[in-house]
Amino acid sequence: MIGGGLAGLSSAVALAEAGCLVRLLEKRPRLGGRATSYTLPDGSEVDNCQHVTLGCCTNFADFCRRVGADKKIRFYDRLYFVDAAGRRSTLEASLLPPPLHLAPSFLFFGGLTLADKRGIARALFTIARAGGEPPGADGTSMLDWLGRMKQTRGAIERFWRVVLVSALDEELARTDARYGIEVFWKAFLGSRGGYRLGIPSVPLGDLYEGCRAAIVGRGGRVHLRCGVREVRVREGGFRCAVLDDGSELTADACIAAVPHDTLLKLVPQEMGANGGPLAGLRNIKTSPITGVHLWFNRTVMTEPFLTLLDHTTQWVFNKSRLHGQDETSDANGRPTKETGSRAKSNRQYLQLVISASYDLVPRSRQEIIDLCLRELGDVLPATRRAELQRATVIKDVNATFSPEPGVDRWRSGQQIGVKNLFLAGDWTRTGWPATMEGAARSGYLAAEALLAGFGRPQKCLQPDLPLEGLSRLWAKESRLAVHD
Ligand SMILES: Cc1cc2nc3c(=O)[nH]c(=O)nc-3n(C[C@H](O)[C@H](O)[C@H](O)COP(=O)(O)OP(=O)(O)OC[C@H]3O[C@@H](n4cnc5c(N)ncnc54)[C@H](O)[C@@H]3O)c2cc1C
Repeated sequence: MIGGGLAGLSSAVALAEAGCLVRLLEKRPRLGGRATSYTLPDGSEVDNCQHVTLGCCTNFADFCRRVGADKKIRFYDRLYFVDAAGRRSTLEASLLPPPLHLAPSFLFFGGLTLADKRGIARALFTIARAGGEPPGADGTSMLDWLGRMKQTRGAIERFWRVVLVSALDEELARTDARYGIEVFWKAFLGSRGGYRLGIPSVPLGDLYEGCRAAIVGRGGRVHLRCGVREVRVREGGFRCAVLDDGSELTADACIAAVPHDTLLKLVPQEMGANGGPLAGLRNIKTSPITGVHLWFNRTVMTEPFLTLLDHTTQWVFNKSRLHGQDETSDANGRPTKETGSRAKSNRQYLQLVISASYDLVPRSRQEIIDLCLRELGDVLPATRRAELQRATVIKDVNATFSPEPGVDRWRSGQQIGVKNLFLAGDWTRTGWPATMEGAARSGYLAAEALLAGFGRPQKCLQPDLPLEGLSRLWAKESRLAVHD
């Protein structure tokens, strides 16, 4: 296994459990790839960027269960939003059957006019009625599709954009409508629990503590600081991996679970050249995410997290609260009785996330911090009076692949016609955007392909959440209609 990100880890663990002897080679000193954390000089652990999962991410959840990380992720049933005037709204499921379960809290959602809400309800109904596959979405951008659905400007800016830019790390005009529609179908319409937000209650790196045991405990090995510089292919099959120190490692099979641009540097050049099986990867673009870490000298926020409307900042995560280091509020963000003098002396660590942060890429660290502080002043007034003790900005310019219209034709499958060489990575053709779920799916798919190749077929991929309520009925009807 080349690469110890989520794709490589999920694949390695599934294969080890299936009885394979796995050797995992990771270039960095830590596991987790893009979803990991590192230690600051003062000993504190900081995520490279806040990561969240959703109830509909069934494969990532399965991977977490296998390695004991499920207990380190807490799920929230209530989502918090705040507009520029500081007005709060929440979304949480009612007892109504899907897709209507979120409708009551949506009705009271501030920041949207009646016309906005009518339009949104119409578009969501169109998605649900078609079982998640409304006609006319192929090859078009999400923004065009929303235009066709006659969405108001307010609905686009304060609803669709708010959800989708952070879910897909891309602007609506550059997002394939199919991806945008899938987010709403899988997370908000198809089942009651799909929208539940899972947030690690530990630094990201701690999620992978059980991986080593899962691999090594079954006779495998995990090598950190072990980069691969070449994947050799001979006579149409995998021959060996050449490590950075020049040594060659042979194996019965190899899964390359590295980013797509890295893969092109490892494999023989002709595979990525015109006409080669990986030529399409050159067309995959990437989009940036910026994370801003702020440490205040006092409590400035009670909610565990907030989604911002009308701001550049999209999410604020109350890391002190999420990591259980702040006792000023309960799990749903309500202040506890003890909030008072003790709360005032509490240091608080917030993490802000801005996806598709193209505009921030050329801006200086200080400019970004100043912008975020100004915006926080609107929604968390206590930040204006608090002292900012420390701040860090992490710009990841190539954070994820861009889900632009038609991107699926460039994404590669797990097999590329080279015997015993398989691919994994969030960028492979999983049908999912670049997420921890997409990475876990790719890992399981690669494991399935490998096991089948050795005559031991086994199912690793987990099913989606079962459809519920009217969504189930409508999905069945629309599929029947398609077959007719
Ligand atoms: C800033 C940011 C925020 C994100 N937020 C979220 C979120 O909230 N929710 C969500 O679901 N997803 C989120 N994602 C996406 C998610 O992190 C990725 O989709 C997922 O982690 C990708 O996993 P992967 O294994 O496919 O790739 P990677 O994590 O990139 O793993 C590849 C691994 O291969 C290793 N490697 C590379 N070259 C070599 C080599 N030559 N030899 C050996 N090893 C090598 C790398 O060091 C790395 O560990 C975010 C991503 C970023 C960057």
